[in-house]
Amino acid sequence: MIDAVIVGAGPAGTCCAKKLAEAGFSVKVYEKRAEIGAPKRCGEGLSEASQNFVGKIPERCIAQRMKGARLYAPNGRYLDAILTEGGFILERKVFDKWLAEEAIKAGASVQANTFVSGLLKDSKGYYTGVKGEFMGNEFEEKARVVICATGAESPIRTQVLGVYSKVNLVDSCIQYEMTNVDMVPDMIHIYLSNILAPRGYVWVFPKGEHRANVGLGIVPQEKKPGAYMEEFFKEHPEISKGSIIEVNAGCVPVGGLVKDMVTNGFVLCGEAANHVNPIHGGGIKEAVISGQMAADVIGECLKKNDVSKTALSKYNDDWWELRGNHLKRVEKLRETLEKLSDQDLNDLVDALKPEDIIEFARGAKLSILAKVLMRKPRLVGIAMHLL
Ligand SMILES: Cc1cc2nc3c(=O)[nH]c(=O)nc-3n(C[C@H](O)[C@H](O)[C@H](O)COP(=O)(O)OP(=O)(O)OC[C@H]3O[C@@H](n4cnc5c(N)ncnc54)[C@H](O)[C@@H]3O)c2cc1C
Repeated sequence: MIDAVIVGAGPAGTCCAKKLAEAGFSVKVYEKRAEIGAPKRCGEGLSEASQNFVGKIPERCIAQRMKGARLYAPNGRYLDAILTEGGFILERKVFDKWLAEEAIKAGASVQANTFVSGLLKDSKGYYTGVKGEFMGNEFEEKARVVICATGAESPIRTQVLGVYSKVNLVDSCIQYEMTNVDMVPDMIHIYLSNILAPRGYVWVFPKGEHRANVGLGIVPQEKKPGAYMEEFFKEHPEISKGSIIEVNAGCVPVGGLVKDMVTNGFVLCGEAANHVNPIHGGGIKEAVISGQMAADVIGECLKKNDVSKTALSKYNDDWWELRGNHLKRVEKLRETLEKLSDQDLNDLVDALKPEDIIEFARGAKLSILAKVLMRKPRLVGIAMHLL
């Protein structure tokens, strides 16, 4: 029997594996995709400050460096929010493999093309391993603890903890990687508009010369994301003149943070626990942090030979204290912004300072935003939600 088996080799799974392996535990990570990191389902944006958690990211994982974000109001006016530390557009296919290699170097074992089809459970109600399939052969792997780092779309989290993403708490996304497009190259471009992307936004993330990830996320509805993309293209010939070299689709949670992420012998981390920033849908940093935090607590529990729900619950407490309460504030911001009309968004972009935008996305200084909204009596009630 090994110490820990991890389902999913995204950033949450491999960062959890690395920490556990560094602490001397035997760890296996199973990934259902034939290639780790591919196909990418990501705009690939990450702040440079995230390296405080991820570690120094090698140059081969970075497609382009960013100065900040250009935020467009529905009327086309924009403001430039410059990040002090800057940001990256990654090559997720390279980045996710690098994270896996880091875990392997630390002593973990990682296996692609391996689908985990079910979990093992003992008579006392403890999860004790996984059942899976590799190259047509079924197998079982017994472990002292099972970590579910499957992302939001796997049924395991629902089967074990009843966790799922409510339809109104996911954004449905489409993204084209395009070449031969024109844009200001060292800024990410974010277009706010209830017409172009209800509840979400359109993004153009430059990825090298005349290349970009062009995508949008919307509240799920009858009109599909691809149809919204066509509308965006009509208004942006500098983008639509390009060619599509890759298509990515997926959903990203924008709420539904989970209070209880553990049970006997089982831990949920990363996007599987809806650990995503609810305002911009960025989940890489949150996945890394929660994978690492889970590993710290699991390591302590393994040392004490106690992987009960009570012992593992320290992860719930730690995560909520460090990240959950903060992301909850960001969720309030998302709930507030989605109630605004395009005219309100125009006025907001005119009224705000660029540096405030960055703070808002971090869940900070929301009282400043509330004050700006309260200038319109109609929005007082909406603004109160932020206080
Ligand atoms: C269109 C789109 C754009 C995005 N853009 C950004 C962005 O620009 N920046 C950002 O920070 N975030 C972005 N995100 C979110 C980000 O990609 C995720 O939040 C992040 O990858 C979550 O990491 P994770 O390790 O928790 O899960 P994942 O990266 O989803 O990894 C989970 C892994 O588990 C595997 N798995 C699932 N079930 C099984 C099973 N039964 N057996 C074996 N393996 C299994 C999956 O194949 C997958 O590889 C975007 C998401 C989407 C959909």
